[in-house]
Amino acid sequence: MLEVKNLKVYYKSEEGIIKAVDDVSFNVKDGETLGLVGESGCGKSTLGQAIMKILPLNARLYGEIQLNGQNITKMNEKQMREIRGRDITMIFQDPMTSLNPIMKVKDLFVEIVRAHFPDISEQKAIEMGGSVLKDVGIDPSRMNQYTFQFSGGMRQRVMIALGLVLKPSFVISDEPTTSLDVIVQAQIIELMSKLRDEYQMSMLLITHDLGVVAQLADKIGVMYAGHLVEISSKENIYYNPKHPYTKALLDSIPNTDIKYKDLKYIPGSPPDLGKPPKGCRFAPRCEYAMDICHEQEPKSFLIEGSEVKCWLYENSQDLKHVNVGGTN
Ligand code: ATP
Ligand code: SF4
Ligand code: MG
Repeated sequence: MLEVKNLKVYYKSEEGIIKAVDDVSFNVKDGETLGLVGESGCGKSTLGQAIMKILPLNARLYGEIQLNGQNITKMNEKQMREIRGRDITMIFQDPMTSLNPIMKVKDLFVEIVRAHFPDISEQKAIEMGGSVLKDVGIDPSRMNQYTFQFSGGMRQRVMIALGLVLKPSFVISDEPTTSLDVIVQAQIIELMSKLRDEYQMSMLLITHDLGVVAQLADKIGVMYAGHLVEISSKENIYYNPKHPYTKALLDSIPNTDIKYKDLKYIPGSPPDLGKPPKGCRFAPRCEYAMDICHEQEPKSFLIEGSEVKCWLYENSQDLKHVNVGGTN
């Protein structure tokens, strides 16, 4: 349903070209949730913005994005405006800055609904909004309030309701929970999971919290410095991780199986995407790095159901140019 092929997003900046997303391929099938994880700055939000085609002006996009058989990469802004919100929607990281504080909640719904369906009356648009508000656990009587009158967690719920009012089939959620406290986070995750099932949506869930994807995702993609270094089922990523970065990421999160004193941190920091190292971008931090790693960018290999961009797996089936659509 969503198919991303050899996607590249390069930003032009004063320091040169920033390769924020560099040759990334994957797919998300109907009803499936893909969790996308990786450290800050690895290109997760850029990837989400590329799919929505809301990249800043200094960005260049290459490759192909197909949504329900339509080639988004070829669409112009007018065509994109038609599908945004209706077929595909993005729920943003920070409801504080993304919601217009001087509009009442009902007006926000009217604006979104009528942008797509001008013939729908204001009253009907408010009814549609009220029904989704109820689904996210907010009393529709709060339609007449301004968003600044809501708490952080409630504001996040309003954002979700606005994103889902037209029942899009694909939702991109960019770190929906980071600015919220832990209990509210858990409630929002549960809510997203419920809505995804009720509305039968597919999801791309962007987060650096492996705990969030553990609950919601069917499969997980791990990004490092603009590359998708591993993609597989959630079970494979947690119980049979292949890429040294995936392993390091798992070792660095507290969980009930690992005692706190055994937690490791990943030495060093991610590379400057304006001047990524030659070869594997993780090589300067990788305890398994070999000579070839410093010379040649690894290809993607298929090993035990996981697609892994790492030279350690060179002797398994070479995926490059064979199946760029991602694993099942
Ligand atoms: P976070 O987890 O902190 O949200 P992220 O994985 O979402 O990070 P992006 O925001 O996609 O990362 O940024 C990827 C890279 O692109 C970073 O190096 C960032 O500095 C750079 N970048 C992002 N936006 C721009 C821009 N408009 N112009 C130039 N560089 C940019
Ligand atoms: Fe480590 Fe080499 Fe694999 Fe990169 S390609 S992750 S440096 S072993
Ligand atoms: Mg981001």
